[in-house]
Amino acid sequence: MAVKNGGPKDKERRCIFCSRGEKDGALLLGGDLGCICSECVERVHEYLKEVKLSPVKSNYGEKVKEDFKLLTPKEIHKYLNQYVIGQEEAKKFLSVAVYNHYKRILYKGQEEKNDLDIEKSNVLMVGPTGTGKTLLARTIAKMLHLPFAIVDATVLTEAGYVGEDVESILTRLLQDADYDVEKAQMGIVFIDEIDKIARKSDNPSITRDVSGEGVQQAMLKILEGNIVNVPPQGGRKHPEQKMIAVDTTNILFICGGAFEGIEKKIAQRLNTKVVGYGVQERLKVVDKKELLKYIAPQDLRSYGLIPELIGRLPVVTYLHPLDREALMNILTEPKNALIKQYKEIFKMDGIELKIEEKVLDLIVDTAVKYNLGARGLRSICEAIMMDAMYAAPSMKNKEFEITLPYAEEKISSLTGSMFLKI
Ligand code: ADP
Repeated sequence: MAVKNGGPKDKERRCIFCSRGEKDGALLLGGDLGCICSECVERVHEYLKEVKLSPVKSNYGEKVKEDFKLLTPKEIHKYLNQYVIGQEEAKKFLSVAVYNHYKRILYKGQEEKNDLDIEKSNVLMVGPTGTGKTLLARTIAKMLHLPFAIVDATVLTEAGYVGEDVESILTRLLQDADYDVEKAQMGIVFIDEIDKIARKSDNPSITRDVSGEGVQQAMLKILEGNIVNVPPQGGRKHPEQKMIAVDTTNILFICGGAFEGIEKKIAQRLNTKVVGYGVQERLKVVDKKELLKYIAPQDLRSYGLIPELIGRLPVVTYLHPLDREALMNILTEPKNALIKQYKEIFKMDGIELKIEEKVLDLIVDTAVKYNLGARGLRSICEAIMMDAMYAAPSMKNKEFEITLPYAEEKISSLTGSMFLKI
């Protein structure tokens, strides 16, 4: 028997938002309780995206002031020691910079009363790649529970050219702060590979240097503390885009770069500056690797950073290349050292992983031999552990030992070229 008009079966399903039915070409989702059409789903999605990308207001600053216990530079240093091996000078400089950064935030308002403006101390870390620059910055951010963003200076170009606008540096920070502007305004940004935006030639008039000096110029206004209009989704700014205004006064910028070859500039400067004997004698014994210790703003300038940018990075520190002993420590000592991580992975399968002492020597020696630094330690460990990790979940034994011959075999099965590519 046919159901009369109005019966539940006969009732045409319609979108509860726009009332379109299947007859109108709507693709309906939902059940007897109600439907929504695909177009309305899309509209709602767009709306939510918009809401999410709008600045959020919070009393984060007040909350931080209430909850935060200000760590002293010594305590910050101690915290860093748990994760980062060596690099004492960099740790010291960073601890002080971060301590002062926090003080500025916590005591904001008081300085206005005193009519005194404590300027922020952005930091520049110079050191070979893989020596812990990013790790230091990341560890600091973890400790502080502040929004943190890592950006690569190489993707930035002057406005109007292919690449990203410098303002996108702040987009990442906003994203990490869930678009809470107040929170983002207290964050830390690590700008990696800052040396790659050095001026390409000494004569800026030959061609436009859109990814070098142009970017440095554009960066100035962000680093010094300004209200900057940030595109919420990064990339290039375009006219219709809604911008979020971010005040960078209290954002701490930590820049890092390898500045390959800067030792030559340091050596040159030291030699030309040296007058009188005694000093010259002392310079002769300076290890070439240790020249970074003497880095000064003039060297950064001769490397191709513009003086205005150098001026906005008043704290300059350096990192040592990692020697064999440091690599061994990195492998075993930090809180989340690689070896500890592998032991944990096996423990999850109920297996105790044992590693012969000599295997650790082999790992470090291989890293030194192929000049792989700390980053290479991981790939070497992976090569040794891969088969064991593959078999572990189905192993009957409750113990697995990596012996020297086992590790040697795994390493020798790799080609040298694979290591060289890392
Ligand atoms: P950089 O930024 O200087 O190029 P990273 O900080 O990214 O180097 O280091 C790469 C990896 O090497 C880190 O994730 C870490 O595992 C390890 N590492 C490097 N230097 C150290 C160090 N001093 N202490 C502990 N681990 C380190």
